[in-house]
Amino acid sequence: LTVNQYLKNHIRTVADWPARGVQFRDITPLLQDPKVFRVLIDAFVHRYMDKNLRPDVVAGLDARGFILGAVVAYELNVGFVPIRKKGKLPFTTVQETYELEYGSATVELHTDAVKAGDKVLLIDDLIATGGTMMAGKKLLEKLGASVMEGAAIVDLPELGGSAKLKASGLPLFTLLDFA
Ligand code: IMP
Repeated sequence: LTVNQYLKNHIRTVADWPARGVQFRDITPLLQDPKVFRVLIDAFVHRYMDKNLRPDVVAGLDARGFILGAVVAYELNVGFVPIRKKGKLPFTTVQETYELEYGSATVELHTDAVKAGDKVLLIDDLIATGGTMMAGKKLLEKLGASVMEGAAIVDLPELGGSAKLKASGLPLFTLLDFA
């Protein structure tokens, strides 16, 4: 059993949530079991503690990217910054709006969250269309930082997001995928 298959066995698929026809990939069972949680976090930490891949800061995407990103940042001994849905951050922000299947969404980042030249690791739980991670990358770039890699537990390659992100020049690291 590989680490990736072990982790995949702990993802719960919920049919018809949040809408009919959607197969939602629920990562909460990975967090709930302390042994699985440790294997999950270590999969990221082992990669990014390498001298050549160590980021200056970890940015997490609202909301499950906060859970993963904060723990990974703590283990790497670097700071953590949250990229939040519109209207949650109190200080001055940069904003990025992107298209969803129905309507649009806006994400925000504090203007002092990163410095120009910072190498940032951008983390979320899952990549679907890639819109969320792309918006996060743009926010960080608005502040002059560069995203050295995007990381997620799950990729849904059939939705084309990971291919689009890679084509934009963003390296990606994902632990498992669902076809
Ligand atoms: P994207 O922007 O289309 O790539 O969608 C990814 C975002 O939506 C991430 O922030 C995910 O947390 C969330 N998301 C979309 N589909 C799922 C799913 O099946 N499971 C968990 N999160 C999902």
